[in-house]
Amino acid sequence: MSEADDPLVNGKAPSTEGRDPAYFSYYAMLQHQQNMLQDTVRTSTYRSAILLNGPLCFHDKLILDVGAGSGILSYFAVQAGAQKVYAVEASQMAEKMRKLVESANTESEALAKNTFLKDKIEVIQAKIEDPNLPIPQVDTIISEPIGVLLIHERMLESYLYARDTYLKPGGTLFPSTGSIFLAPFSDIALWTETMGKARFWEQSSFYGVDLSALYPDAKDEMFGMPVVGCFDPRTLIAQANPGGYVVDFYTITMEELQDMTIPFIWQASYTGIVHGIAGWFDLHFSPPPSVPSGNTIAMSTGPAAERTHWQQVRFLLKEPLAVNAGQTIQGWMRCVVNEMRSYTIEAEIMVGEGQLTNPTIPLTSIYNLDFNRRRGKWRLHEQTYNYNYYPQSDNLFRPEYNCLYEPEHPIDTTVVVENNFVDDNNQFII
Ligand code: SAH
Repeated sequence: MSEADDPLVNGKAPSTEGRDPAYFSYYAMLQHQQNMLQDTVRTSTYRSAILLNGPLCFHDKLILDVGAGSGILSYFAVQAGAQKVYAVEASQMAEKMRKLVESANTESEALAKNTFLKDKIEVIQAKIEDPNLPIPQVDTIISEPIGVLLIHERMLESYLYARDTYLKPGGTLFPSTGSIFLAPFSDIALWTETMGKARFWEQSSFYGVDLSALYPDAKDEMFGMPVVGCFDPRTLIAQANPGGYVVDFYTITMEELQDMTIPFIWQASYTGIVHGIAGWFDLHFSPPPSVPSGNTIAMSTGPAAERTHWQQVRFLLKEPLAVNAGQTIQGWMRCVVNEMRSYTIEAEIMVGEGQLTNPTIPLTSIYNLDFNRRRGKWRLHEQTYNYNYYPQSDNLFRPEYNCLYEPEHPIDTTVVVENNFVDDNNQFII
């Protein structure tokens, strides 16, 4: 990233307001709300988290639902005994929600629907950031502000704004944490297909025109597009760091959320070619320390878990990287907000020995990268899709079918790989 397009270079995050009309007209459509409602893993996890913590965090409490959409989380909160739910939704979906809530108020009781919602929900069509909303300090905030790789769409900033503006001290945030997981993968077909798209621009006589001046740009663009889709977990060359990179919604600041550097250190389980870095996230719902006997509920969007509408995302390297089973692979991924309601991402990945480059040094000013190191840049909003993988129980599977080779001798996993570039809080230091 050059200094000129580093959005945080002046210490101020770029605004997302220009994107609002397109963003909210998407969510105004029932079909897009339905897509989320039909994600059973997502919807039932939220429901369990709310109902299982009903007595402590919802019963007789004031609740704020940030980005209520169809209102589903508000309805769960009422089922859990909420005294009142303030349901804030910026898009026209607020009107649809109102219709559903008001179906409890028909004159004829026989025709009334959802009578359990009667007088429980205040629908407010507004952006949560709008000033002077009629919302008191609440006991619990519920929201589903999660995008691809947890952070896409930048709605988490609205969630933190709600926390800082409307949550009583010691109140509950559902979800409470998100953890980002990264792991190296091998996928020769995906890499070759992507390279094939870039190579179109390599030709020297396309209807008599030499396109090759644009080949480097085409490569940057094709490989700069994150690939969204589920993939076979058996294509991972190493396991993700256990626990992942934790984003604690109770404590993270807006500034930290807008510029995050995720360190990673892996030990290769196979000999093979790293074509890129795969990413996914977990969500946790836990009451704050002031509510000690709550139930923590978790869900994963990882490749080995049941599919969700978030799927996973993969970041391809322009030049793959060869590793041997047992070798250490380390590096970082820096995610900086951009004005497209998303993040611009850079990563460095290095096999074996060496000193990692400081993540704040722009890619363009790095020459002579070592042979054991790669750097890449992606824009999280320029997503492409890959739906080639369908899980099946296949007892005949062998790693070499994915071009991954088992070590002949067992890997010594007792070798502790020292991580000397993070501090005790897992923050990147160099
Ligand atoms: N809570 C619903 C919808 C989640 S999708 C569910 O779980 O099914 C996120 C919703 O938040 C969208 O409907 C979107 O229009 C809304 N939204 C996003 N940013 C917002 C903001 N700043 N203020 C109010 N609503 C917002």
